[in-house]
Amino acid sequence: MSVDEQMVGNIVREVMAKLQLQSGEGATSGVFSTMEEAIEAAAKAQTYVHKMSMDQREKIITEIRKRTKENAEILAHMAVQETGMGNVPHKILKHHLVAEKTPGTEDITTTAWSGDRGLTLVEMGPFGVIGAITPCTNPSETVICNTIGMVAGGNTVVFNPHPAAIKTSIFAVNMINEASLAAGGPNNIACTVAKPTMETSNVMMKHPAIQLIAATGGPGVVTAVLSSGRRGIGAGAGNPPALVDTTADIRKAAEDIVNGCTFDNNLPCIAEKEVVALDSIADELIHYMTSEQGCYLANAKEQEQLLATVLKDGRLNRHCVGRDAKTLLGMIGVQVPDTIRCIIFEGEKEHPLIAEELMMPILGIVRATDFDDAVRKAVWLEHGNRHSAHIHSKNVDNITKYAQAIDTAILVKNGPSYAALGFGGEGFCTFTIASRTGEGLTSASSFVKKRRCVMTDSLCIR
Ligand code: NAD
Repeated sequence: MSVDEQMVGNIVREVMAKLQLQSGEGATSGVFSTMEEAIEAAAKAQTYVHKMSMDQREKIITEIRKRTKENAEILAHMAVQETGMGNVPHKILKHHLVAEKTPGTEDITTTAWSGDRGLTLVEMGPFGVIGAITPCTNPSETVICNTIGMVAGGNTVVFNPHPAAIKTSIFAVNMINEASLAAGGPNNIACTVAKPTMETSNVMMKHPAIQLIAATGGPGVVTAVLSSGRRGIGAGAGNPPALVDTTADIRKAAEDIVNGCTFDNNLPCIAEKEVVALDSIADELIHYMTSEQGCYLANAKEQEQLLATVLKDGRLNRHCVGRDAKTLLGMIGVQVPDTIRCIIFEGEKEHPLIAEELMMPILGIVRATDFDDAVRKAVWLEHGNRHSAHIHSKNVDNITKYAQAIDTAILVKNGPSYAALGFGGEGFCTFTIASRTGEGLTSASSFVKKRRCVMTDSLCIR
């Protein structure tokens, strides 16, 4: 361990110990014992944020970006230590990405029509206090990303974070409020409860001050939010297939797929979860994956052992989620060097290690007889989530056919999945991809309501 790592480790331990105390005591910066108190504080802060100029809101956001970058290493260490999932270097990159590429107030635009009968504007106004439910897979990234977009729109936010990542989420909430105060804004622009539960989540969903809920997580939470009677933004589960056809640069496809699949140990919902490869190029793809990309080809017995370890009675073993390939192989008694970063095997699409969203670097490869067969298999594997899919192909007709058939919010062509978040690809970043409700990659403009402001017969100066 280097001196730097030791230093960060000590800081994380100190912060975790401090948060242990705080979460028992109740209110700190944005942290409350009850959901009602958290919502009340966020509502008070929202009356200030609403009156702020866009320039003032942007100053708060700039300070959040700065502090996110300064604390990226600590937040990454904290999340890995608290949840046991993912890896520190990739989580550091994710925090830099969220700080640099999450849209701010520039995302809030106005539409205007002027003519003989006057001037009409459509302006985007805040909902007020937004309720947000966040996952343990990207805990602080989602808290920071949601807050930037929501505050840009003039809202404040109350989080019900995943209990398994509460300390990391509280650190992010504290950091955000400190940023707001330093930039001349109010305290409590982001709030949470010290001990989030299903009960606090229900209180949030039914509270009259909450008019919009943004849920990021698996199918259960999205369904719960969409049944709440409130307007909901549902960012649900995915199981993204990566299709490789005969026209692809096979060597590059192997590299891109393994890079995307192993990013943060496969936790991102957009990450490659399985491969569908045309039969004629499958051997070549597997060759590059094993010889150049640190993949371990599991034999039949190892596949059975992995299956029994990873899925217990058909349920995902949480101790395996977000673990690296070496650790997963160690669990079944296979020792490999540190260079091994992904486990691959061949199977039918129905194989549970292929059909399930595992969130770990185990990549099943399904063979297809021709392109139409590959599309059918990939669409089946995506399970109608309409979330993310990827393709490696130089044939635009094939790409178009696949895109139309799979109909996902994200489709990356000839690159690793994380290019969709603006990491090695164009476009902005988000950690809330509203696959179920259709907003797609959310940003500030997803968290505002349209208001039409009409002046009749004047202010048209043409
Ligand atoms: P999870 O569904 O277990 O938990 C997500 C959040 O929802 C947590 O805060 C949890 O406490 C809460 N929750 C779960 N069930 C609930 C219910 N019935 N009522 C109210 N709250 C409930 O998910 P996770 O393990 O934290 O995250 C991984 C999952 O999230 C994967 O399925 C992944 O694909 C998905 N995800 C999606 C996106 C996206 O942008 N679409 C982003 C990240 C993760």
